[in-house]
Amino acid sequence: VSPASAVHRGRLLAWQALAVAAALTLLPAAHAFSSIPPGRSPHERITVEAAEAAGFPGEATDDLRRAVVAPDFEEMELEPKADAPSRVDARAAYRAEHHCDRVPPAGDAEAFNATAAYVRSAMAEAWAWSAAGKPGDAVAWLGRALHAAQDCASHTDAVDRDQDDAFVAAALGKGPPLAGLRLTGFAPNTDDPETPKGDPYPHGAYAKDSADGTDESSARLPDNRTKYDAAYGLAVRISSELLSEWLAGIDAGQRARLAEAEHGGTPLPDVDVPSPPTGAAAAVLLALALATRRRAP
Ligand SMILES: [Zn+2]
Repeated sequence: VSPASAVHRGRLLAWQALAVAAALTLLPAAHAFSSIPPGRSPHERITVEAAEAAGFPGEATDDLRRAVVAPDFEEMELEPKADAPSRVDARAAYRAEHHCDRVPPAGDAEAFNATAAYVRSAMAEAWAWSAAGKPGDAVAWLGRALHAAQDCASHTDAVDRDQDDAFVAAALGKGPPLAGLRLTGFAPNTDDPETPKGDPYPHGAYAKDSADGTDESSARLPDNRTKYDAAYGLAVRISSELLSEWLAGIDAGQRARLAEAEHGGTPLPDVDVPSPPTGAAAAVLLALALATRRRAP
């Protein structure tokens, strides 16, 4: 390794570390199966596990996991307030059915059906783009379908019911909706989006998007799993069934082209970091250390 390329590499690492630190500070932290830290978020780990289980082409898995977190980065943003530093709110592009959310005054059944219909239409888009020889667009739509379906596991009370098979079928739009299923309430562009006024099942208290996101996440089920772990497992199952069904609908040529797909969507920093807040601190320290070393004679 020549000194010049070592300096270049150091600079590159410093920039990557800064990008990660910025991402951890600025991007939505609390909404949906958390989409940070980049590369290792629950949404991405769920997707990678499901892709392996479904036999999704390994070369395209990296693009797929990036596509799955894109809806959170495109539709949500951190909008801190003095009394709520980690307040997350919706951008203009936000749609409830992209995240299996119930936005009052919509009811549970209406909101769930809208998400299941969106999952089907996003899968259909992915099939159409794949057939048209555009694997990058196909993967992007597959990511949207997976994101919405995965959010149904963490934004409902499915883990409290003993109806996993029926729930998976319903979330994929292949079975009737579950009677009485509750969805977490979310009210975009209000003072406290995660806790709509008077809501019986607010996102801020009942979402199971990260291991320690809410008290509900760490609550235990009778079988001793946490509700977060149960939601995670359900999301892997929904995702692998979605991918298996989708793969069965493409031919060998389309499958081969998938491996060449390059996702052209939102660029995300792609560096392995420990989980926050240690991750952010470590990234900043690494960036400073590398920047300092560069200046040394
Ligand atoms: Zn989401």
